[in-house]
Amino acid sequence: MYDEHNIFAKILRGEIPCDKVSENDSYLAFKDINPQADVHVLVIPKGAYVSLDDFTSKASDEEILGFWRGVRSVADQIGVIGAGFRIVANHGANANQEVPHFHVHVLGGQNLKGLLPG
Ligand code: 5GP
Repeated sequence: MYDEHNIFAKILRGEIPCDKVSENDSYLAFKDINPQADVHVLVIPKGAYVSLDDFTSKASDEEILGFWRGVRSVADQIGVIGAGFRIVANHGANANQEVPHFHVHVLGGQNLKGLLPG
């Protein structure tokens, strides 16, 4: 069940501000408030989807294509494609997903070391 009061829903409705990178009909991209790398941008679909599973099973082909093309476009806009970057999507409890609106983290601007800490 999608929670209309989650923080990214509020950002999408313009109820709270964000440091926007770009947007179109399919996605909104903004800087993470607590960056974990020199470059850390979040990309979210405009539709109300809780998780990667929810998005990929319920969104239209147009929404899915538009979103992932948006992720690629954002990576280009923030200049991380040449040097390399990582995308992360936390899903559910084991991944410690904090915000229940599907999003991907785009991380770069430095060497990101191993996939998991430790
Ligand atoms: P998750 O753990 O759900 O994959 O990641 C949620 C991310 O959202 C975290 O990296 C956190 O710093 C970021 N975040 C949480 N609240 C806000 C907010 O109000 N504004 C922005 N820009 N990022 C937020």
